[in-house]
Amino acid sequence: MKHQPRKRFGQNFLTDQSAIALIVAAINPAPGDCLVEIGPGLGALTRPLLAAAGGLHAIEIDRDLADALRQEFGARLDLHTTDVLKFDFAALGARLRVIGNLPYNISTPLLFHLADCAELICDIHVMLQKEVVERMVAAPGDSNYGRLSVMLQYRFEMEQLLDVPAAAFDPVPKVDSAVIRLMPLLPQRWKARDDMQLRRVVAAAFSQRRKTLRNSLRKLISEPVFDALAISPTARAQELSVAQFVALADYLANGADPAAVAT
Ligand code: SAM
Repeated sequence: MKHQPRKRFGQNFLTDQSAIALIVAAINPAPGDCLVEIGPGLGALTRPLLAAAGGLHAIEIDRDLADALRQEFGARLDLHTTDVLKFDFAALGARLRVIGNLPYNISTPLLFHLADCAELICDIHVMLQKEVVERMVAAPGDSNYGRLSVMLQYRFEMEQLLDVPAAAFDPVPKVDSAVIRLMPLLPQRWKARDDMQLRRVVAAAFSQRRKTLRNSLRKLISEPVFDALAISPTARAQELSVAQFVALADYLANGADPAAVAT
């Protein structure tokens, strides 16, 4: 019986064989790779990935799809029927190659979840809404630059690989899509003393992105600290580099002691 796509699970299945071939070529899977597919769905990517690598982990929330995948692929597919947002990637080992035509409704929390375990990951190839991909790679000063750009650029080198038209999916989504590659920065290019403080300051700065930093960070950062860090208090979040956000986070991690900034 034909599967009825479930909107709540972001089910838009890839049907265009040339798009599938281009994505798999970009991934370049090889035997021995520890491939992890998020949301295998009806298996459009799973089939060629398994043919190239021989085995694959897959995480799928939809039990009906999971049953069909088990029937088709048997033991070659190590299927985890669960919510990827709760999935512990560490259980799969290290040097993971993560792949997915992602459910767009959970793309931001899922990217943050992957960033939290970046040290386990070799690379990530994912299809996302094109507008989200543009936010991920945006540079300071760009109108698309925001929390997602800073927090992902802090952990990954990213490359936008290819655009995929809406017609490549069934059902056809209302948005265009793009594939992006993320490679963890190992060693990290910047290392905040406490990642929680980085999250905190970036979230606060972008929660009122039109305001000056003096206003949006009023509760966290005082005027002399901006001077000590050579950051203009009249700048807006959108103008700050990742390194500058890390400097603000390190100030907070030092117990908000202005003397610590000068050292
Ligand atoms: N990979 C298939 C393809 O390219 O045709 C399906 C892609 S579809 C956009 C997203 C897939 O992710 C669906 O199979 C959906 O059931 C699954 N999914 C949605 N939310 C999920 C979650 N929280 N955890 C795991 N899988 C999820």
